[in-house]
Amino acid sequence: MTGKRVWVAGHRGMVGAAVVRRLAEENCVVLTAGRAEVDLRRQAATESWMAAQQPDAVIVAAATVGGIYANDTRPAEFLYDNLMIEANIIGAAHQLGVVKLLFLGSSCIYPRMAPQPITEDALLTGPLEPTNEWYAVAKIAGIKMCQAYRRQYGCDFISAQPTNLYGPGDNFSLSQSHVIPALMAKAHNAKIAGAKSLEVWGTGTPKREFLYVDDLADALVFLLKNYSGSVQLNVGTGVDISIADLARLVCSVVGFEGELVFDASKPDGTPRKLLDVSRLNTLGWRAETELADGLRTTYAWFCDHYREARL
Ligand code: GDP
Repeated sequence: MTGKRVWVAGHRGMVGAAVVRRLAEENCVVLTAGRAEVDLRRQAATESWMAAQQPDAVIVAAATVGGIYANDTRPAEFLYDNLMIEANIIGAAHQLGVVKLLFLGSSCIYPRMAPQPITEDALLTGPLEPTNEWYAVAKIAGIKMCQAYRRQYGCDFISAQPTNLYGPGDNFSLSQSHVIPALMAKAHNAKIAGAKSLEVWGTGTPKREFLYVDDLADALVFLLKNYSGSVQLNVGTGVDISIADLARLVCSVVGFEGELVFDASKPDGTPRKLLDVSRLNTLGWRAETELADGLRTTYAWFCDHYREARL
């Protein structure tokens, strides 16, 4: 990657920011585009910015993202924004002769009832989880675009499917966030208020796998250097935890000692979502950060950035 111009699309998001941090260790030129400078949902703006910058490689971490509630209540944006962003960037990357492009998908692309752990072969073998099917459909289209440009034009466009992510820079707003930042913010506020209990959505029985965002960034750089293929590679830890156990762990990291109250009127989402990461392991990459350690670092970040943590 020495001397190469690498564009991190979406550098202000949790993933993009982690990729920029990781790329500082490489001898490359990191390109970023502010939202005021270019709206990636607009084709002409995206094309002219990319033509002016001439990136050698692109990491597509720009997306409209959110947790179970956001996905379920803003289906139009989850589809429109994500389809436009990926179509604009991938199409322009082909026209400009970008040498390598890495598109980020999500583990929610897989069928709701896929056999666990979920292998890459499970894609499009069954119905999606309804609470996030909008996001999933957009991400599947992005994966298929990478495969189509590879097949028709020989472009080296790859894609990676991270499991549920967390870490510094996450969105802690209760209506938009994923479960870890939501529980962390709730536990923090409950501790400060001296509350007796903390509300956890759903039954607590669903299981999720969580990857620390700096581990993901490391995996993405590894894939840029070492992977060229049409299969959308899974990126995860290979370990999952129930939401109830996760909530207990978050409370212990935050130092909240009250009770958990489960609100079963809120959706559980998919019952289990554990990725099979053996393909990635075989290539030579493995996640390093233990969940408890990653939660501690994330909570320290949250405390330092409490005011601006998109609460
Ligand atoms: P998902 O993996 O797409 O379902 O996304 P989330 O991270 O939003 O939710 C994961 C699981 O955590 C679901 O079963 C949620 O119901 C559960 N959960 C429990 N409490 C919360 C909360 O306060 N916020 C969110 N977003 N999820 C919660």
